[in-house]
Amino acid sequence: MLIAGRSGYGSLAIALALAQYLTCEHPGDDACGQCKSCRLNAKYTHPDVHFSFPFINNKAQKKETSNDYLTEWREMLHIHPYFSVSEWLIHLGGDNKQGNINAKEISNINGKMSLKSFGGGRKVLLIWMAEYLGREGNKLLKLIEEPPENTSIILVAENTDRMLPTILSRCQFFPISKLHDDELHTFLKNIEGDGDVDLETIVRLGDGNLGIAIGLTQDVNQELSRIFKKWMQCCFIGNGIETMKFIKEHGNMGRESQKAFVQYGLHFFGEYLRYYAIGDVDILRLTSGEKVSVQKLRNKLDFENLQKIVAELERLNIAVDRNGSFKIHLLKATIRIHQYFRSSYSSPASAGIKSI
Ligand SMILES: [Zn+2]
Repeated sequence: MLIAGRSGYGSLAIALALAQYLTCEHPGDDACGQCKSCRLNAKYTHPDVHFSFPFINNKAQKKETSNDYLTEWREMLHIHPYFSVSEWLIHLGGDNKQGNINAKEISNINGKMSLKSFGGGRKVLLIWMAEYLGREGNKLLKLIEEPPENTSIILVAENTDRMLPTILSRCQFFPISKLHDDELHTFLKNIEGDGDVDLETIVRLGDGNLGIAIGLTQDVNQELSRIFKKWMQCCFIGNGIETMKFIKEHGNMGRESQKAFVQYGLHFFGEYLRYYAIGDVDILRLTSGEKVSVQKLRNKLDFENLQKIVAELERLNIAVDRNGSFKIHLLKATIRIHQYFRSSYSSPASAGIKSI
């Protein structure tokens, strides 16, 4: 089975629940939650539930398969199972490195799945972020097509278009869509209670993604918002010295942070577009500070140039994906975006840049 959808929508959580159900000793409509198997699953230590996921290959520390990262994996799951692959890799200390499911891991999987089950019952293989298999996925075709007896294989993926068609065609497809605002609200209320947190705002910003919503309750997005705003000010003013200062300070951010930075930008301008089109600030998935920025931007950026800025961010996204020099691409993007602001607004220097 292939469970497809962002982790923040609950795709991994559903896969874990399914693994527990499949191995439960007394299953009814759901896993019993009481048997030995269920108790082991609650700790993610069931010997017949095998996990595979992207990780950072570290030969020096002999961390070369998922098995070597199970401690970190369980730590993450115990916090919550709605984390993104970026958050996972940062947890592994690999901010500047790309995660991977490598050839050695594939042999590890094939080896594990050929063994008899420990408890004599069903065996489950859960591969999280199956798109990271890349071409190595071909080596799993036989296993996926004809799993050993009493064996279930659950793949979880966010970008199925990055998966090999040969794998996709062998899976039962189970798509997960984002949560409704009221579902997100109920969930957050259960974990946050009625404390100081502004649940209404978080639900709106979370946009159906539990991982993002939980992150917002922990203020992780505020830093991104601050850095992005600073960058936009550089783009708008076009002062060479200030721009170089910004790039010197932030051009060295790790790869996963670069991705998050660009994604934040795309989110911000996506919301700006909605504001541009509808003119209603209340419907935006933005914080109150960001809403003020959006309103101020209204007279400084027209639709045509907004499209160009979004295209620029998409280009930056591709550059990050290809591991290009972030500093150089950030500088190029700054210069181009400055030009778009200029052609949107006749005299940016006098527009009161501090107010964006
Ligand atoms: Zn059970």
